[in-house]
Amino acid sequence: MDHLSLDRRSENMRAIKGRDTRPEIAVRKLLFSMGYRYRLHAARMPGKPDLVFPARKKVIFVHGCFWHGHDCRRGNWPRSNQEYWIPKISRNIARDRKNESALAEMGWTVSIVWECELRDQAGLAARLREYLGVAGA
Ligand SMILES: [Zn+2]
Repeated sequence: MDHLSLDRRSENMRAIKGRDTRPEIAVRKLLFSMGYRYRLHAARMPGKPDLVFPARKKVIFVHGCFWHGHDCRRGNWPRSNQEYWIPKISRNIARDRKNESALAEMGWTVSIVWECELRDQAGLAARLREYLGVAGA
């Protein structure tokens, strides 16, 4: 049992399954300004990728460092309520891996944009340009 109320818990679930989170919107804006066009939240694809580039057969997930257990400072295991968070975040990580390999088997290339990458927009833009190829192509 965890110590969170049901209310808190459903709030957390929304955040995990969240659509239109702040990092996600920031990535969309960045890519749009770079000239890329994409589809959002492909409901029938494994893990419902946040951005889909059908012609390129590429998808992007935008992951919050905490929720998806990124190996960075923001992704550190929480110090409180560990009996609640560690299994939950571990499940998220396992689910992410499963979705990524399912997509790969379907012939899609997957890239993850981590929330912390947004601190270096120029670096992120360069990485995404390399990943996606020329915009508008
Ligand atoms: Zn991170």
